Amino acid sequence: MQDCLFCKIVAGEIPSQKLFQDDDITAFRDINPAAPKHILVIPNRHIASINEASEQDQSLLGKLLLVANQIAEQEGLAEEGFRYVINTGSNGGQTVFHLHLHILGGRQLGWPPG
Ligand code: AMP
Ligand code: ZN
Repeated sequence: MQDCLFCKIVAGEIPSQKLFQDDDITAFRDINPAAPKHILVIPNRHIASINEASEQDQSLLGKLLLVANQIAEQEGLAEEGFRYVINTGSNGGQTVFHLHLHILGGRQLGWPPG
């Protein structure tokens, strides 16, 4: 999609620190990390938010989680623990309207979130 920051990251038109990319999924480091490890995992295809996902995205969403697991393991987070977050819409604090899963780890995370 034109004018979507994360579509541009997928296409390599905006630089990012990519940790993973295949035909379906891209993972890259968050530019403004909220934890020592903060990675975003996204579908390459533009889906504005989890609200816009449909039944045809079932395997894509499953793969997104499994790629995230692989990255959590790679980043040394699997043992000590981590958090997945999908901010959605205005109350959810979503600022980029291309579906993304945050992986946060590397410190004790507070609960509930703000
Ligand atoms: P959200 O608030 O859930 O929509 O998260 C958007 C995330 O994208 C924030 O954590 C931002 O720091 C991150 N972000 C924004 N621009 C970039 C960029 N160019 N490269 C990497 N991460 C970004
Ligand atoms: Zn997009």
